[in-house]
Amino acid sequence: MIQMKNLSLTMKITIWYTIFLVVITGSFLLVLSYTGNSKASGTARTKLLEAVSDARDEISRVGENYIIDSDLDFYEDGVYLSIYDDSGDMLEGRRPASLLSVFPALEDKKLHKLKADDGETWYVYDSLFDLDGTQIWIRGMVKDFAEGETISFMMKTAALAFPLLALIAAIGGYFIIRRSFSPVRELIRTADEISHDSDLSRRIDLDTSDETPRDEIYTLARAFNGMFDNLEESFEKEKRFTSDVSHELRTPLSVIISQSDYAMEDEEYREKALSIINKEARHMSGLVNMLLSLARSDAGTLKLNREKIDFSELCETVVQQQAPIAAASDITVKSEITPDITVFGDETMLIRIVLNLMDNAVKYGRQGGLITLSLKNADGYACCSVSDDGIGIKAEELDKIWERFYRSDVSRSREGTGLGLSIVEALVKAHGGSISAESEYGQGSRFTVRIPLYSAADDTEAENGEQK
Ligand code: ADP
Repeated sequence: MIQMKNLSLTMKITIWYTIFLVVITGSFLLVLSYTGNSKASGTARTKLLEAVSDARDEISRVGENYIIDSDLDFYEDGVYLSIYDDSGDMLEGRRPASLLSVFPALEDKKLHKLKADDGETWYVYDSLFDLDGTQIWIRGMVKDFAEGETISFMMKTAALAFPLLALIAAIGGYFIIRRSFSPVRELIRTADEISHDSDLSRRIDLDTSDETPRDEIYTLARAFNGMFDNLEESFEKEKRFTSDVSHELRTPLSVIISQSDYAMEDEEYREKALSIINKEARHMSGLVNMLLSLARSDAGTLKLNREKIDFSELCETVVQQQAPIAAASDITVKSEITPDITVFGDETMLIRIVLNLMDNAVKYGRQGGLITLSLKNADGYACCSVSDDGIGIKAEELDKIWERFYRSDVSRSREGTGLGLSIVEALVKAHGGSISAESEYGQGSRFTVRIPLYSAADDTEAENGEQK
């Protein structure tokens, strides 16, 4: 048996709307036939009552004789009339033959509903009235219009045409829906190909011309392409990252191996080799620590020991610490620090943030240049910026400097790992802050970090954290 859940969407929609169409039209026909019938019966009864009452005016009496006006038609407009005297004998009139066998006894003001011999339904109405002292009966008879041929013909035609129309609607609708869903089939095909060939570069062909309707399916296809753009980008980044990590670790490792080989062979060279090995091992250790911080930040397990920190003091300390290093490159460090700015953060990590930016400013600064560290209060944030007048960053590279292992061509000649800014960004975000960079190539750069200011609520948060 075909299960509903296994049917295609086109088939399901077709089935549902056909059922809906059948139910709606069927109910409509039922209501129409019911109201049509009762209205027709109502009309037949009114006509009958009117004809009987009008007939009274056409009968008069002269002596013993009844005079029936020649205007009175005993059959008119479907209504039969007959006149009876008080003993129930028919004086004059017409009666349909099919009714004779089921004729009821005369009964004043009584409307009978009868089934005639031929199966038709009839209404029979009697009225007794006084004509100059004698009683006269008038009996009217009319066929129920509801059973009339027009209505039953209409209903029969509808009953025949209806399944045919439902079939045409179902088949026509199926093809229209199928056509509308063709981009979805294209979408499924592309998704299948991507998963089968592992080719993330594939996209759905989107007709971007103005005639193409911008409907839900178009939007879905565009979202699908957008999703694959992002996936491909992250996948490429991940691939680059892994190859960069292995490359960055392999280089110092091979230096360590070759230097230890030389040291074992040549006693005189041993000391020099040891110092190279030491330097490379430290570089590796730094790299591994950075990667660990990044991995923790990715996993959301970067642990911050947050407390109230005097950020102004912290920045001042970093300036004093970096000034002699900068001076060695003939760079002056200037500080414009607003005092008593406090934040709620991890001291070691905050130092790492500022130190890293200062370190870059010295590394990529200009000999004889100037580095300015400024700290001010701005809209609930501690706003710390480090600017230099060094090599600057090309506009097209400004977005990429946050990527792991990214180093611009000009900076490759200097020491570094390409991980510093990625870590700074992760640490700033862990503090609920943000970081941005502005730069003019050849003129200098400015990095600005914004960290939320300390507030009394932070203490409550810290206490709650400790209690947990
Ligand atoms: P690293 O300094 O180890 O190369 P970073 O992540 O700290 O790695 O920086 C990434 C890149 O951003 C650097 O290689 C450099 O090209 C650029 N950059 C960072 N800071 C500056 C700066 N102050 N001036 C110019 N370029 C910079």
